Amino acid sequence: MAGVFDIDLETEDISDTEVCMLLLLISVQTEEVELTSESVNRDSERVGPDCFELLTVLGKGAYGKVFQVRKVQGAQTGKIFAMKVLKKAKIVCNAKDTAHTRAEREILETVRHPFIVDLLYAFQTGGKLYLILECLSGGELFMQLEKEGIFMEDTACFYLGEITLALGHLHSNGIIYRDLKPENIMLSHRGHIKLTDFGLCKESIHDGTVTHTFCGTIEYMAPEILTRSGHNRAVDWWSLGALMYDMMTGSPPFTAENRKKTIDKILKCKLNLPPYLTIDARDLIKKLLKKNPAQRLGSSKADCADIQKHPFFKHINWDDLLNKRVEPPYKPQLQSDEDVSQFDTRFTRQTPVDSPDDTSLSHSADHPPSVC
Ligand code: ATP
Ligand code: MG
Repeated sequence: MAGVFDIDLETEDISDTEVCMLLLLISVQTEEVELTSESVNRDSERVGPDCFELLTVLGKGAYGKVFQVRKVQGAQTGKIFAMKVLKKAKIVCNAKDTAHTRAEREILETVRHPFIVDLLYAFQTGGKLYLILECLSGGELFMQLEKEGIFMEDTACFYLGEITLALGHLHSNGIIYRDLKPENIMLSHRGHIKLTDFGLCKESIHDGTVTHTFCGTIEYMAPEILTRSGHNRAVDWWSLGALMYDMMTGSPPFTAENRKKTIDKILKCKLNLPPYLTIDARDLIKKLLKKNPAQRLGSSKADCADIQKHPFFKHINWDDLLNKRVEPPYKPQLQSDEDVSQFDTRFTRQTPVDSPDDTSLSHSADHPPSVC
């Protein structure tokens, strides 16, 4: 069940009436916005597959492929975008956390933020949903981390600060990001943070091959997600702590040779902090990686404000940071809008083909089709 309450009904010993009440409670407290051409597209232009030319494969997530595309028709002809192919996607908001119920489009508008990827268009065809997003040509933040090994504290502070503002913004709109991990943190061409997605509940184009909670990387997931014991926005602050640890030490806080052992460590192991971290960094990591979500920094009503006040961020002017007046530590070296040098050649060398059964997107026809 997708929602702010991740309750596994099969393992709970409750009656049918209680199940009905629970479902009612969930539907009263959450608003769901399905992403469709109607809820996303802002003007009257009819946008479909013919409007885009496939250029390159940029990456692959648990839910589908992401391509670099060029718009070849209508408004913004010639502009480069990223196109993500999914089966379905929706945003679940906790209505209790927002002042009033809002129209679907209004919810999508409120998701906009300088450090969150912008969604421009959506269309459905051949049973698939196509999302047209701004193209984040700076690549994944962790490509940069891989190059550097670890980040200096002021570099980490800049990135963590921008991520904190993005998460705080989503939370204030009742949205939990849930999936904060290195691959989902990207850089714009100027070097600012951009979170991919925005708390989307996605459906894979590969039917039934993934479970919603546990696909992909688990190293950054909060204990309460892994035990499915119900979770709230504090899960995102745990992941922020795990990322901070990764940025400053070169690996996530709890790792093991397999997923089961990693989960065991996340649930039970004591945090081990290397001695070279400053007192402020150690203190913030410790407070974010509290296994009990109620004790975690950021879990109070104040949410991100409590994190922003922490001494680790004492040199940050939050207003300047939000308004992109702080110079990013690294500026991606890019030759043009189409430059894909910041992406893994594992992807960019592939022939950009949407899928064998969908020939409606333009692409060079002389290569064999690859499967999404
Ligand atoms: P997951 O849920 O595992 O994060 P996903 O299916 O939602 O996966 P994304 O994380 O959105 O997929 O995208 C997969 C990869 O594609 C990213 O790691 C990134 O390298 C690339 N990518 C995603 N969005 C963009 C974008 N807007 N611009 C450029 N590249 C992107
Ligand atoms: Mg991803």
